Amino acid sequence: MANLLWLQGGACSGNTMSFLNAEEPSACDLVTDFGVNVLWHPSLGLELGENLKKLLNALTSGQMPLDIFVFEGTVVNAPNGTGEWNRFAGRPMRDWVSDLSKVANFVVAVGDCATWGGIPATAPNPSESQGLQFLKRNQGGFLGKDYKSKAGLPVINIPGCPAHPDWITQIVVAVATGRGADLKLDEFQRPKTFFTSFTQTGCTRNMHFAYKVSATEFGQRKGCLFYDLGCRGPMTHSPCNRVLWNRQSSKTRAGMPCMGCTEPEFPFFDLAPGTVFKTQTVMGVPKDMPSGVDKTGYIKLTAAAKAASPRWAEEDIFVV
Ligand code: SF4
Ligand code: SF4
Repeated sequence: MANLLWLQGGACSGNTMSFLNAEEPSACDLVTDFGVNVLWHPSLGLELGENLKKLLNALTSGQMPLDIFVFEGTVVNAPNGTGEWNRFAGRPMRDWVSDLSKVANFVVAVGDCATWGGIPATAPNPSESQGLQFLKRNQGGFLGKDYKSKAGLPVINIPGCPAHPDWITQIVVAVATGRGADLKLDEFQRPKTFFTSFTQTGCTRNMHFAYKVSATEFGQRKGCLFYDLGCRGPMTHSPCNRVLWNRQSSKTRAGMPCMGCTEPEFPFFDLAPGTVFKTQTVMGVPKDMPSGVDKTGYIKLTAAAKAASPRWAEEDIFVV
């Protein structure tokens, strides 16, 4: 049995909704098939008031082992570093996070707010929010860059706004079944199994990307969303076109550009208002290039690709 505790800081509950909709495995499978003992969760926990405090104190004092501490949402430090704006079970949530992280075997940050601060930590950040071990791209966050859980791992970051349900439950299974220490993490502490490839991997519009056939409207069934609609698929690490949403689709399959929600800079508020879904260009060349592509190569390649575009690349891919 692996004891799991899930707490929520500055959050919209989106990752809880995602978790409760997981399918492979489901939240119920975690309990029935993988030996996860959910001690408490904001939507599932039965204990309230003094009983909840008793449970939390048993964990922080070491009376009861804590195998997996999952945190959703930011660590709220306002006002003035006290954390009083986000109280929980009789004290600032930030104090519970600090104490529980000291006794947990593994700490898992779920969603952008818990990983890098997400929307709440975007300037001017009135709630003085931090991610558990990052603030945007900077390592450190609330627990500090040297933090390691009792099992010797830093915080395991599962980003996304929200994170895909199966990313969450599959990582919990890995940890609960004793394979947590084998998880390979990237420079942002994301499990490599999910966050090495780009959102573009598996996108059904790759042929349109290659031949520079562009979609100019949301939901348009033909064309790549990179050239006019600001798709960040070639710059974003996520398996959204490999591990499909609701087991059947993804943003780009539905004609919606990837917004880069698994990267630390999300939500890219540096863009001018009204231009989120507009590809930013400098002299006709996209400002943000697909990873590993230089500007000169891009200009040559796209000119040739456009000229060589076969007729089928211009046809509606969904015609039956
Ligand atoms: S840029 Fe976006 S829409 Fe185009 S192929 Fe890549 S992921 Fe798909
Ligand atoms: S397609 Fe992009 S914005 Fe959408 S969930 Fe995946 S990574 Fe996030």
